Amino acid sequence: MKLLLRNIKQLLQVRDNSIDKVSGAEMKSLPLIENAWLLLKDGLIADYGPMSNMPDYQGFKTIDCTGKMVLPSWCDSHTHLVYAGNREQEFVDRINGLSYQEIAEKGGGIVNSAKTLQQTSEQDLYSQSAIRLEEILKQGTGAIEIKSGYGLTTEAELKILRVAKKLGENYPIKIKKTFLGAHAIPTEFKNNKDAYLDLVCGEMMQKISEEKLADYVDIFCEEGYFTVADTERVLEAGKKHGLSPKIHVNQFNAIGGVAAGVKHNALSVDHLEILNDDDISVLKGSNTMPVALPSCSYFLSIPYTPGRKIIDAGLPLALATDYNPGSTPSGNMNFVVATACIKMRLTPEEAINAATINGAYAMGLSASHGSITKGKVANVLITKKIPSYGFLPYAFGSNNIDQVILKGKTLE
Ligand SMILES: [Zn+2]
Repeated sequence: MKLLLRNIKQLLQVRDNSIDKVSGAEMKSLPLIENAWLLLKDGLIADYGPMSNMPDYQGFKTIDCTGKMVLPSWCDSHTHLVYAGNREQEFVDRINGLSYQEIAEKGGGIVNSAKTLQQTSEQDLYSQSAIRLEEILKQGTGAIEIKSGYGLTTEAELKILRVAKKLGENYPIKIKKTFLGAHAIPTEFKNNKDAYLDLVCGEMMQKISEEKLADYVDIFCEEGYFTVADTERVLEAGKKHGLSPKIHVNQFNAIGGVAAGVKHNALSVDHLEILNDDDISVLKGSNTMPVALPSCSYFLSIPYTPGRKIIDAGLPLALATDYNPGSTPSGNMNFVVATACIKMRLTPEEAINAATINGAYAMGLSASHGSITKGKVANVLITKKIPSYGFLPYAFGSNNIDQVILKGKTLE
């Protein structure tokens, strides 16, 4: 199976030598080839170059990309795409003046979603989630991480991860799975958090590792949810089951979760809306990717992650959606890239790097995804005819994607 893209106005994010991530000032550069061709073969990127030196390829299926840009598919390293029902009533409650924390105290929030999910069959959960996945494929996402954490019982947490696994088997997208049992304290354990953590670190992790249902472990390290000590406990238990950490920290308060993540060699620390200088220092020289979720800030009207400050400190940054029913009912990476430019003052080059190669890093996928590099998976976007790549974040409300190619095949 061969597919040739020719007359590409600009082929973006071309990295001849595979890199795992880009940091600091390097993020300002987005390597590209003007007037390019790209050959995809057997689901992989086979070759590319400028039109002036294209070999005389005959008999291949060809797409003419005149006036269009081609770039690697988005890599969305933080989602909760498998969930049941929706929470538009809480959205209205917030418009009427309740805070996210007040809604949680009223029995809404994550615990509310968990109740719905517990009562939803695995088949129904799969169908609801598949609709969302199909939508984001069309929006250009080619690799995604999906977390559990909307179940909060052993059975329901396993159900989410089984659905995520099945989605990965049935759709042409790479899915990484994260166990987030410690997402909230279920009502039954309201006054006995330690007993719930016993369940998370005991039975839940045991069964998940037996069925090989997760790659990573996560926890919501936040006031009113889980402490730094809880975080360390869960990460240590995860390690025993072969799960590396990717954690929720510093969404509302900086309580030392970033340092705990770095100490446990977390692959990523996500949210970071409230970030202090100590957090930035501790990230320097670590292997941990900071991840910003700007559409969550947009939806909740909370501060944006100080992405400018993170990059200016020489650190890398990845962008992800946080697709979930409570704080980000959207999996649109195009909107995330635009919002990072508009609200976090990232340049288009920085935002595209953050949403491709650095997103891949935050899922342990930079060897196979996130750039135009020979041998990587043939996941690319073809834009509509646009004047420049800066037009992607600039025209933030438009659908600028013309075609999506996943594993070398056009998505119908
Ligand atoms: Zn999240």
